[in-house]
Amino acid sequence: MALDPAIACERLIQKLREKGIADERVLDAFRKVPRHLFVSGTTPELAYEDTTFPIGQGQTISQPYIVALMTQALELGKDEKILEIGTGSGFQAAILAQFSRRVYTIERHNDLGDRARKLLRSMGLANVTFKIGDGTCGWKQWSPFDRIIVTAGAPVTPETLSEQLAVGGIMIIPTGDRAQQDLIVYRKTEGGLESKSIEKVIFVPLIGQHGWKE
Ligand code: SAM
Repeated sequence: MALDPAIACERLIQKLREKGIADERVLDAFRKVPRHLFVSGTTPELAYEDTTFPIGQGQTISQPYIVALMTQALELGKDEKILEIGTGSGFQAAILAQFSRRVYTIERHNDLGDRARKLLRSMGLANVTFKIGDGTCGWKQWSPFDRIIVTAGAPVTPETLSEQLAVGGIMIIPTGDRAQQDLIVYRKTEGGLESKSIEKVIFVPLIGQHGWKE
């Protein structure tokens, strides 16, 4: 008999706790966003494993632990305006939408962005705005953002994104080479940007004008 997704989700949440995710609001968001809807062609057992899955176009849905870690590092209240680069499956955007006033998300692959938009609409998440384009340029029209999250690995942090972060804001971005990156958390103060690395990670490349060349 197939495993009930709710039970599989609770097992995943327990694993995330054991790995150090302590923010119960982040863990609760995982209950509200059924991951099996974002991972087609697998069983609930697999969809709730703490692992990545292919989503087409050579891209992946991020590992739940990394989604939770990045969300926790953003220190979200209830009212932030967030920019996400790399919509992918839409899972991270749906998690962010549980906390924030509005999420702006950019994906360079048309079909992935379109699929994510339809899925989030079908889930009734109306506070996410989608765009197809090069996220390394940010989204000037809606800047400054209280939070910026980049879910693909960059060679360096694009200045365009730092400029679009509000003073008092937090940005999280994996930077490094194509094989491995440091997950960097930036805080913008009146005096400039403070940064710290919180984890070693492996992300698909951030491709664009201020990222990797294709
Ligand atoms: N956040 C996603 C999720 O929850 O499924 C996972 C994202 S996947 C690891 C990284 C995504 O970044 C891919 O879908 C890729 O196409 C996208 N990407 C890479 N470079 C980009 C760019 N310059 N602008 C927008 N999206 C980009």
